[in-house]
Amino acid sequence: MLKNILSPKTCASCKICCIFDKYDIWETPIISSELKSRITAVRDDIRFVTKGDSRDSYLFVCDSKIVDGEELFFCPALDPEKGCTLGENKPFECSIWPYRIMQLGKYRVIAVASICPEMYSKPLKSLVDELERGLDDSLAEKIYAYADKNPDIVKPYQKGYPILYVRN
Ligand code: SF4
Repeated sequence: MLKNILSPKTCASCKICCIFDKYDIWETPIISSELKSRITAVRDDIRFVTKGDSRDSYLFVCDSKIVDGEELFFCPALDPEKGCTLGENKPFECSIWPYRIMQLGKYRVIAVASICPEMYSKPLKSLVDELERGLDDSLAEKIYAYADKNPDIVKPYQKGYPILYVRN
């Protein structure tokens, strides 16, 4: 979550990015093995599964519940009252939410998740300005640099996600 552009109050009352349905379960964050160790040291109740055949990336095991007839999957780090409980151990993808880095053909694009109602309603210029903010490295540079080291965070492009940046 980006405090410059999203208010903590708005996110605290929403939590849409921490609860998933069968259509957006692919949005759950990727956890590196190093981050997994840090999270396990403070939250040994959180369980992980390996991401596909990767040996370096993990996903949270999310418990599901039927809500209004729909199966929803809850991030195990989510406290219903307080929000995310991971603090400085929050996954990188959650820290940049609702920006997403995605693969579109041979390009890696930075897009904005259309399911975030607050960001989706903002002018395009403010979304791009936030990506270009930063003294040494812009947020966009940080996202590409992190993706270079952690390619598993680059998700396949999803139709309907407005694209803000394009790069090989
Ligand atoms: S790790 Fe935190 S911010 Fe990320 S999905 Fe889980 S509760 Fe939400």
